[in-house]
Amino acid sequence: MNLGEAFCIVCGSPPPLFGERMCETCFRKRNILAELPINVNWSRCPRCDLTSLNGRWIEITDEELWHELVETSMKLHGESEGIAIGLETKKVDDRNTLIYLQIGGTICGLEYEENHQMRARKSNAVCLTCSRRDGNYFEATVQLRSSARKLADEEYTVLRATLDELIANLEHDPMFFVTSEGPVTGGYDVVLGSKGLAKSWSRQLVSKFGGQITATSSVVGRKDGADLSRTTLLYRKPGYELGDVVRWREELWRVASWSGEGAILSKVNRKERTGATWRDLEYASVVARMQNHLIIDAVREDASVAEFLNPNNWQMDAVRLAYDHVVGSQLRLARVEGEWVALPLHQADVKK
Ligand SMILES: [Zn+2]
Ligand SMILES: [Zn+2]
Repeated sequence: MNLGEAFCIVCGSPPPLFGERMCETCFRKRNILAELPINVNWSRCPRCDLTSLNGRWIEITDEELWHELVETSMKLHGESEGIAIGLETKKVDDRNTLIYLQIGGTICGLEYEENHQMRARKSNAVCLTCSRRDGNYFEATVQLRSSARKLADEEYTVLRATLDELIANLEHDPMFFVTSEGPVTGGYDVVLGSKGLAKSWSRQLVSKFGGQITATSSVVGRKDGADLSRTTLLYRKPGYELGDVVRWREELWRVASWSGEGAILSKVNRKERTGATWRDLEYASVVARMQNHLIIDAVREDASVAEFLNPNNWQMDAVRLAYDHVVGSQLRLARVEGEWVALPLHQADVKK
C-alpha cells in the first residue's frame, strides 16, 4: 500500500472510490437505492368504496392506489438520482395484493437496478360519511316554504335540484350528505350532515329565487369536545319569480331582479324602476306568471295598437302596444283580469 494515495476506508482497496471513499464492492454493500416495508395496510369502505389514504377518504382506482402506496412507503437513498420505477401487481386473494417493483437509478455515479416486493393488505373500515349517515347524524334542516301562494311539486323539484348542483361544484367533503328529506305540510324539508352546506345552499336559494332566510339554532350535545348545535334554516320563497307581472300599490310591475332585502321592480306602463323590501311587497299579488305570457306576432299594427290572433279562440284581439315597442317585433302579452296587456322588454326575456 502506497501511503499518500487514496484507498478504500473499509478494505484498503485502491481507487476508483465512491462516496465517502469506498471501493465499489464496499459501497454497494452499504448503500441501496430503496427500502420498502414487507407489508403495507390500506382500508376501503365497504358501503361506498371510498379508499382511506393519508387520513382522507377519497375515490381512487386500484392502479393509482398501488402507486400511491409505493410512493408513501418507499424510502429512497438520500443521494439517489434519476429514479425510474416499474410496477406490476398480482392479486393473491380478496385482501392481499403483491406489488413487484423494479427500481433503477444512480447513487454517487454508480448505476443501480433493484427488485423489490411489497404486500398490500386491505381491511374494511366504514368511512366517516357512511358511519354518520348510518347513525342518522345531522347538523341542519333546511325548510323550503313559500311566502304567498302554494308551490307546485315541480317548483320544489327545481329548488331541490340546486342542492345537488351545489354539492357537485364544491370540493368533496365527507359531511356533505343528505340525512333525510321529504314533503311536509306546507313545504319540503331537507336534513343535512353539514351546517356549512346548509348555509351555502340557502344563500344560493336567495340569490337565485329571492326570498328570505330565518335561522334558529339549538345546542343538542357535544362533538369532539365542543358543543354540537343544530340549525334550522327556514327559506321562504316569494310567490313570484323574475319576469312575473305583479300588482303592487295599484299598478302593474314586473320583477326585475332580487336585491338583498327585497326586489327591484320595473313598471309595465312606462320606463320606471323602484326597489321594494319584502315588507313592502307583502301585499303584492301575482297577476301573470312568466310562463303564462303569450308571445305572438302582430297581424296588423299602428302607432299605438296591435291586432293579433288569439290562439285560445281564434278571434282577432287588439292590445295597446308597450311603450318600448319596436315596429314589427313580437308581442309579449299578459292576461290581466280579462284584459290583454303588452309588456315592455325585460331582462328575463332576453336571457331565454
Ligand atoms: Zn472496499
Ligand atoms: Zn363509505
